[in-house]
Amino acid sequence: MTNKPRALIAGGGIAGAVAAIALHRAGWEPRVFEARERGADERGAFLTVAVNGVAALRDLGLDPERALAAGFPTPTLAMRNSRGRQLAVLPLGGPAADGSTTTTIRRADLYAALRSAVTERGIPIEHGRRAAGFTEHPDGVTASPGLPGAARRSGGVSVTFEDGGAAEGELLVGADGIRSRIRAVLNPGAAEPAYLGLLNAGGFTGRPVDAGAPGLVQMAFGRRAFFGWVAEPAPQSRVWWFANPPRRAPVRPGEFTPETWKHYLIDLFAGDDLPAAEIIRASDEVLGPWNTEDLRRVPVWRSRRTVLIGDAAHAVAPSSGQGASMAIEDAVTLGRCLEAIGDPAVALERYERLRRARVRRVVAHGRRNGSGKTAGPIGAALRDAMFPLVARMLTRKGDPQAWIFEHRVPELV
Ligand SMILES: Cc1cc2nc3c(=O)[nH]c(=O)nc-3n(C[C@H](O)[C@H](O)[C@H](O)COP(=O)(O)OP(=O)(O)OC[C@H]3O[C@@H](n4cnc5c(N)ncnc54)[C@H](O)[C@@H]3O)c2cc1C
Repeated sequence: MTNKPRALIAGGGIAGAVAAIALHRAGWEPRVFEARERGADERGAFLTVAVNGVAALRDLGLDPERALAAGFPTPTLAMRNSRGRQLAVLPLGGPAADGSTTTTIRRADLYAALRSAVTERGIPIEHGRRAAGFTEHPDGVTASPGLPGAARRSGGVSVTFEDGGAAEGELLVGADGIRSRIRAVLNPGAAEPAYLGLLNAGGFTGRPVDAGAPGLVQMAFGRRAFFGWVAEPAPQSRVWWFANPPRRAPVRPGEFTPETWKHYLIDLFAGDDLPAAEIIRASDEVLGPWNTEDLRRVPVWRSRRTVLIGDAAHAVAPSSGQGASMAIEDAVTLGRCLEAIGDPAVALERYERLRRARVRRVVAHGRRNGSGKTAGPIGAALRDAMFPLVARMLTRKGDPQAWIFEHRVPELV
């Protein structure tokens, strides 16, 4: 055992892996507990790490060229209507002065790259360990149930796991995602994630389809659902895509088989002048459906020794393209606060002050983006008419999302 303070991190996803590296750098001894067994991550679809998230990785000393090597740059977005007419071309972020560019990557590849950066630093990741609860013991003496004879230090926290085990440390980071157990303990009775009225699907073509310039993200308001796609650069040249079918009720497990889901999606886009139906038909991987959810507000983010980061604190709607980047920014900010401020309770307070307002704005932005995807026929006609004008007006003064993309985690030391 070293004399370094010990950080217990519940969740080895994006936030948890980046926090492990950030805390290690800040002089802590992190230990990551991941609920899933090793290799059990669903292969998943893809996500976009925006330029601000890429820059935060760079600030942490992670070379994006390496961490995001399996992805490709996607700095531009073209919006279309259901007839295929281009409504606007918008920046998606980058390249910034330091070379950071918004990058699209398969979820499983991002998890794998971040976790290998964690283990390369000698930080343990314990798989198959689902946190069940925790107890804080502020001043030395503790009476944590289920921890017979465990060593205890003053001002600490004990985590219990569903496997019956437990661990002790001086800090607990709840990075356990949208259904966070740590959040539930900190916020008893608080609101659960809300379904946004949209399903989510994703996939990859198994053969090339004519889908526009490689690396150009395209999104379209189909008549019945929203569709997004991007062609990978050569030599792979597959098309990566997602769809957001509106639906009043959330989907139940087992409601679709992979075949019925694929046919449902093909039918949904059949009447549009878009490559959507053809792309789905050409796909050997059709993923989902997932319910699209976000969390409106989590009242309590921290106590003296416990803190929430990433989706556990604030699930941002997928439409914002910022969930992963917010998780990365949170983790890097937390590391900087703990490095600069000796007292963990004060460091956690500073972390919350630095993150709350930004996250609130980004969540609100994601909700607004998502609501345009469920417009009825009149709303859709208005949107198609107004979109180019609004986009032109907004971009005349520069990038309207610059406040998101140009954010950098502040230096505190
Ligand atoms: C369909 C879809 C598309 C998306 N697209 C984008 C996109 O394009 N761009 C973007 O930025 N974001 C996107 N997001 C959001 C993004 O995936 C999340 O914001 C991001 O993964 C948050 O990282 P996290 O580490 O907080 O949570 P997660 O990545 O979910 O990681 C949480 C981890 O905690 C583990 N865990 C859960 N409970 C416990 C427990 N009790 N104990 C221990 N471990 C536990 C889980 O197994 C998981 O590994 C999308 C989300 C969805 C659903």
